[in-house]
Parts: sequence; structure tokens; C-alpha cells
Amino acid sequence: MEHAPTGHAADDAPGPANYVPLSPVSLLHRAADIYPSKIAVIDGERRFSYTEFRARCCRLASALVARGIGRGDTVAVLAPNTSAMLEAHFGVLMAGAVLNAINIRLDAPTIAYCLRHGKARILLADTEFAALTRAALAQLDAPPPVVDIHAEGFDAHISDTTYEALLSGADPAFRGPGAQDEWQTVSLLYTSGTTGNPKGVLYHSRGAYLNALSNALITGLTPECVYLWTLPMFHCNGWTYPWAVTAVGGTHVCLRKIDAGAIFELIERERVTHLHGAPVVLNLLIHAPAEQKRPITHRVDIGVGGAPPPSRVIADMERLGVHVTHLYGTTETYGPSAICAWQTDWHTQPADAQARLRARQGVRMLAQEDIQVVDTLSGQPVPADGETLGEVLLRGNAVMKGYLDNRDATATALADGFYHTGDLAVRHADGYFEIRDRAKDIIISGGENIASIEVEEALYQHPDILEAAVVAAPDARWGEVPCAFITLREGATLSPEAIQQFCRERLAHFKSPRHILFGPLTKTATGKVQKFALRAQARAHVDATTGVPS
Ligand code: AMP
Repeated sequence: MEHAPTGHAADDAPGPANYVPLSPVSLLHRAADIYPSKIAVIDGERRFSYTEFRARCCRLASALVARGIGRGDTVAVLAPNTSAMLEAHFGVLMAGAVLNAINIRLDAPTIAYCLRHGKARILLADTEFAALTRAALAQLDAPPPVVDIHAEGFDAHISDTTYEALLSGADPAFRGPGAQDEWQTVSLLYTSGTTGNPKGVLYHSRGAYLNALSNALITGLTPECVYLWTLPMFHCNGWTYPWAVTAVGGTHVCLRKIDAGAIFELIERERVTHLHGAPVVLNLLIHAPAEQKRPITHRVDIGVGGAPPPSRVIADMERLGVHVTHLYGTTETYGPSAICAWQTDWHTQPADAQARLRARQGVRMLAQEDIQVVDTLSGQPVPADGETLGEVLLRGNAVMKGYLDNRDATATALADGFYHTGDLAVRHADGYFEIRDRAKDIIISGGENIASIEVEEALYQHPDILEAAVVAAPDARWGEVPCAFITLREGATLSPEAIQQFCRERLAHFKSPRHILFGPLTKTATGKVQKFALRAQARAHVDATTGVPS
């Protein structure tokens, strides 16, 4: 039988009363309205209430708009985790512009590439990175104007305009155009893909808002939370936590540099409740000298991700008295997309079994609709047997719009209605997935991606190098480090140190190969380098040199 019309035709058209484009900026306004005098940001000696924090963000937006910056314009920021970086996460969005947070560990040519490719209209640069900024700008035909974010103890100038002067002349009550629609781009982040140049991942306003709320809820943020910034904000916008912590009206504690002593001190002094980081950060805390360690006497939740955390690291961290949650994600999916969600009956398991369960990458977060592990040839889901390997695919509201000006890479990444992660995993009987390998040719060192091809390209510039292939070697501290296999031209002699020096002059320091092995490269009959065989050789080399099986 046909149903009669319900007569609710007015419901069909969304209007201002029942539809507001989702934007992280709303989260700041709510927090500032409700907690005006609560401390929003602690940055060294400086403390900003929510009223002050909002006013500073509004001033930034007003200053940008006064310079003609608006929708579609890129505002680049080269800074560590300071209050200015947090303010950019709101002020730039209020102006309706696109925030491009740049990795401070990159080398000048790569930063120049990001500024050029991202068409940065303005660059806010921390003066600790004055030399790097100048070197990057020197490579550009039309460098963007620069605003100096003055850093205590770093008095070098890059430009005549300072960030504080920019803010002081601007309107603290400015509300800005903000996002006109949810699909508007709010963030641009460069990520090392498997091909040479970094790719510019674009986030939309809707995904930023939803992933922030998903993270706030699933990692238990409350208005009492005090969040320590151990995770770089230039990585996936700090996994969307600038917006998540603000959503609940929590307190941000800035941190310029990763330093175990400072982290323990801040945990104690500011009563930090949450922090996040790659396994390398956890390792640093575990192995900190006794005089830097402080007993942890209140509840601290640490989210770990960005690289596979060994179960031992999770167990060691828990012994320090903190709660560890394992998160998995990619730049393309706004950071955390999966969580190893705790099940109550895991309590009954022995400690080492618990640690193994928790080293699995888990299940989908709220802003993801679906995570599948599929056979790379048939595209069909693998059986949930804990053994069959497949690629991890994701679909949902927190998947990037695409790569800036790169339709081919976007089409490949988002083919068949899923984002293809390039991570290889098994699915367990309880539905949790666990990463076992990587199909993409990247090395993840201390949570930073290194495209093997970029290191290989640098090596090939050396006149004495005939062939080079770079793979990941296991490393106790960094998780993985680059290992180069090199064939020299006949008659040439070259020391590993000379090769490392050559690479350091051309690449960011962390990308230079840590191990160098000479000899012919293992190849297939068709002449293709067999990277899996080289990875096994690299592992054996590390085992032999350290005496510890990896
Ligand atoms: P990025 O785009 O730089 O954030 O790097 C994303 C990649 O880091 C993923 O595709 C994985 O290979 C790796 N990754 C992130 N989190 C985890 C995790 N929890 N376990 C294993 N690998 C991870």
C-alpha cells in the first residue's frame, strides 16, 4: 500500500535554524562562552584564559582578512607546538583560509617545495627556525611575506613583522567568514608518499570537526583534561586534538621540544591527564635517566600511534603507571581512524597476553564508517583467521578530500569507494585488525615517514654510486631506520661515513641512511630489485651487529 504524504515538506529544506556547516571554530566559541576564565593554553610562563585564547585567534583571523586572505588561500606555519600554532588552528579557519602546518624536521628544499606547491600567501615562522626559513625562502622566485613568531632565546629576525605586532593591531571581536560550507578546505598537510615529491593532503571542515569530536569522546577527554603537546601539530593537525581538547574546554600545555625531563616535570606540575605520541616518545620516557623520571601519582592517559608500538613498549609504559591506548591512522584520514578498544574481559588475561591484544591496531573510530582488510588481488575481505594478509581500506567522513593538484594520485588513493592505506594486516576472529607489513615503500622512523625513493634519488646523485636501494631496518629506538644497499662503480671506493655525509647535505637528517651495505642488489629475473629480500638482509645485519634478534 502506498503511504500518503506526511505533510512534512518544510523539513526538506535545511535553514539557519536547523543546519550549520560543521566547523572546528564553533568548538572554540562554545568553550570561550562557557569557560571564559578557565586556562585554555599554557606556553612556558604564559597562560591564556579561554577569553584571551579566543581573542588572540580572532585577532589573527582579522589580521589575515585585512591582508586580503580568505577562502582558498593558504596560510603556512612553520613552528613547533606553541600557542601561536594552536591559535593558527582556529584563526586561519575563522578567516576562511587553509592552514598549512609544515614539518619543522624537513630540509629547506622540501619546505620550499611545500610553500611553492601549496601557494602559501603568508608564512608564520618561529624564530628558532630562522635559518631554515631563510634557506627555504631563498629557493623561491616569489616568496610569501613572513611573520616572525618570536621564540624566547632565538632572537634572529626573518622579517620586520612580528606575530605579536600583527595581533596587537587587529580586532579581538572579529568573527570572520569561517567555513561557508562543510566541504570547504581547512587544512593542507604534506606527506611523504612512495613517489618523490610530498603530496598535499586536503582536509575539509566537516571531517576536521567530526574527527575532533570522535577523538574527544573515544579517548575520554573532559573539561578537566590537561593535554600535553608531545605530538607535533604539523602531523595531521596534531591528530585533530587542537580542536578536540578545545571542544571539551580542556587545557592545552605547549611543548617546544621533546625532552623526557620536561615531560615528567610538566605531567607532575600541571597535572597533565592526556598526551599522545609515536612509540619513540614512549621509549624516551621509559628509558629516561632516573634523575629525570618522576613518580606518576594521578591518572595519565597516553595515546600511542603513528608507527607500530611493540607490545613490550605498551607493557613498559603501563609499568610507569600510565594508561596506554593504541591508535592507528594516516595523514589521509585526519590521524586516528582506528583504536584498539578495550574489552572488559581482557582483564582476566595475563599481562603479556593483554599487551599483545593491545598491540593490535583495532577497530574503527566514530568518524569512520568502515574499515576493511581485503585481498589485494580479488578486493574481497580476507577471512577473520588472524593469518591471511590483506590491505587496510577505510571509508568515512574523516577521509581526505584528495591530494592538492594531483588528480591521478587522488583517484588511485580513493579508488572503489575506499581510501587505500598501503598497510597490510590480518583480521582476527573478534574483528580487530593487526598490521603485519606495508605494501607502500616507506620507512617510518620515529613516527616520521621517509619515502625510500627520495633517499635513493639522493644516493644516485653520487658519481661513484652505480645502484642503490633503500629499505627499512629495525631499530630499538626509532622503530625503523633507513638501510641503503649500494653497488659502487667499478674501481670506486667510498666509505659509509662519506655516503652518510653526502646524504645529510641533501636530505633532512632523519632521512639519511643509518646502515650502509655494499654489494650487488638482489633482483628478480626481470631485473626488479627485491625489496622484501633486502629487508630480510637488513634485519639480519641489525641482528648480527647488535646481537639482539629484532
Ligand atoms: P602518516 O601518514 O605519516 O601519518 O603515516 C601513516 C602510516 O603510519 C600508516 O599508513 C601506517 O603505516 C603507520 N602507522 C600509523 N599508526 C600505526 C600504528 N598504530 N601501527 C602501525 N603502523 C601505524
